[in-house]
Amino acid sequence: MAGFQGKSVLVLGGSRGIGAAIVRRFAAEGATVTFTYAGSPEAAERLAGETGSKAVVTDSADRDAVIARVQESGPLDVLVVNAGIALFGDALELDPDAVDRLIRINVHAPYHAAVEAARRMPAGGRIIVIGSVNGDRMPVPGMASYALSKSALQGMARGLARDFGPRGITINIVQPGPIDTDANPEDGPMKELMHSFMAIKRHGRPEEVAGMVAWLAGPEAGFVTGAMHTIDGAFGA
Ligand code: NDP
Repeated sequence: MAGFQGKSVLVLGGSRGIGAAIVRRFAAEGATVTFTYAGSPEAAERLAGETGSKAVVTDSADRDAVIARVQESGPLDVLVVNAGIALFGDALELDPDAVDRLIRINVHAPYHAAVEAARRMPAGGRIIVIGSVNGDRMPVPGMASYALSKSALQGMARGLARDFGPRGITINIVQPGPIDTDANPEDGPMKELMHSFMAIKRHGRPEEVAGMVAWLAGPEAGFVTGAMHTIDGAFGA
């Protein structure tokens, strides 16, 4: 596979899980890939070594650092914003600073990264943000801040699609359901509950999400923008 030969790709949050699968997919298809990490330097260095990609430390909670990283990465053909965190707990008890940090990582960073990337992205450029089916459906208590952050991405994509369309740039949201990663291991305590909501009763694999991202980044998806792409075993159906 060499579908992204000559393309420059930046993945924000690529050291583990879905982000790492996205890095692997673009690298395998010949792209020049840079990815960011924050708390997992060893995983990042290992992945960079395995794939020939470049790992750079950038905390997505730091708006200015995210903007600087996008600038330093040069004109991008593809920006993928994957970094995201979840918070669990009674809304009345959660630390407001932790909620605000989640919003900085999950909402502020994607917005500012997308705008900064679009300044120098050539026509044909692609911006893909990893949202969640929880932007559409939140069937359990204790995750309102996460749900609000993923819903916010929907409005962002609809609006920025209008801004970027005339420049030949698309922006789309990929909305996974339960995916087997460190953040949501298939053998975790929520397995039975999550699978009870689903038509396909298993967690998805990071590679399945990476496949959807690759399609959205590729030549067949040039007419697809401002849209949500759910990959969830019918969790949200
Ligand atoms: P993981 O926790 O397994 O991995 C998260 C990745 O994001 C890591 O590479 C991590 O890097 C990076 N990251 C987290 N915080 C920051 C930060 N402040 N700055 C830079 N990088 C950061 O998560 P998943 O792979 O499961 O999730 C990836 C995305 O997919 C998230 O946006 C999540 O909301 C979304 N998603 C996941 C689902 C699931 O079931 N797994 C379902 C729906 C959506 P490091 O460790 O180096 O900090």
